[in-house]
Amino acid sequence: IRVRPLTCTETRRGDQRVVHSLGDGTVHVSAARHDATFGFSAVFDAGASQETVFEGSGMRQLVELAVDGFSCTVFAFGQTGSGKTYTLMGPLAQGETQPAPPGLLGLMQRSFACLLEQSQSRGSDLVLSTSYLEIYNEQVRDLLSPGPPCALPLRWSKTRGFYVENQVSVDFESLDAIANLLQQGAEPRRRQTSAHALNRHSSRSHALLTVHIRSRAVSTHPAPMGGQSGGPSTYPSKQGTLCFVDLAGSERVKETGSSGELSVEANNINRSLLALGKSPPTMGAEAASSQQNPDAASVAHLLAGHCISLLAKPRGKRMHIPYRDSKLTRLLARSLGGSGITLMIACISPSSRCLSETLSTLHYASRARRVTTRP
Ligand code: ADP
Ligand code: MG
Repeated sequence: IRVRPLTCTETRRGDQRVVHSLGDGTVHVSAARHDATFGFSAVFDAGASQETVFEGSGMRQLVELAVDGFSCTVFAFGQTGSGKTYTLMGPLAQGETQPAPPGLLGLMQRSFACLLEQSQSRGSDLVLSTSYLEIYNEQVRDLLSPGPPCALPLRWSKTRGFYVENQVSVDFESLDAIANLLQQGAEPRRRQTSAHALNRHSSRSHALLTVHIRSRAVSTHPAPMGGQSGGPSTYPSKQGTLCFVDLAGSERVKETGSSGELSVEANNINRSLLALGKSPPTMGAEAASSQQNPDAASVAHLLAGHCISLLAKPRGKRMHIPYRDSKLTRLLARSLGGSGITLMIACISPSSRCLSETLSTLHYASRARRVTTRP
């Protein structure tokens, strides 16, 4: 859980701080008619630095697992304005032209640095490439393709699983290179939309950056006695992925005033989130009720529970996952269905005005946590 500080606007307006971290992995919400405490594996209060979040969330371990060949995924969820993008990318994506100070860099840049360090310290030869997509209205767009973003078809093949046809994948070997790709990916979204529309756009779309890590471990030691020669010996290659998902805002979309277009967006967001959360039997009843009244927040509730319950299941007990229901689930099929490892970061605002969304996010996250803690 990450609680962001009150923004200047919130402070000026006199919003109350209703969320407090008690320092022992618990979050306390106290407002007029609410008084609740929630426990989590890690809670980061408003004062927590980006570095603290990186080190305390297990992100570093996730990077190491990806290097070891696992499919690792980080989801940031929460209502619009709760700090998802800030947590993942730092203030870089907020439309500032100046690069962010290093201290403010987000989980993504820190992970990239960690990956490149690993590549050196392990003496292994990592081949890194990245792709960057967004899903908006159930359309997949490539954020790295030159020219205006256009919708790309999603395909399936026996060897590759689900993949995006003609998706751009760019190799990188330095921190600057990947930082540029991140920036470049954020730009088409900016160019396409006005500042006002951008906010709405980014809050209604999912963004997925995936780093593909192929590792060719090369021994730097001479071959053992009796070996053929002193040349480096190559081990079988491993292939891991590290995927960062900045989910669409989980807030309820108000029915009033929502034009046809907005309703389509809301439905498509719901479809994505619903598909992710649908299948586990223990959550069946809730899934059914959210289908009757699908709002993104309650559906998002199921998302983490689902991802994490999959991780908690012993291998071999297969569960049906409705990949066909949404582009997001299909793209994440490998991480969610195979030997995937998932970190969920719930972002919340401390403001009294966000109370109901905050409670909804916390309930959802604590459900997810209860599922995870099973050995
Ligand atoms: P979201 O992506 O969830 O819609 P943002 O990441 O864009 O939200 O954050 C909303 C605003 O709050 C931004 O102006 C951002 O800079 C600020 N913000 C979010 N989290 C923090 C934080 N931990 N520290 C300082 N400012 C933050
Ligand atoms: Mg955002």
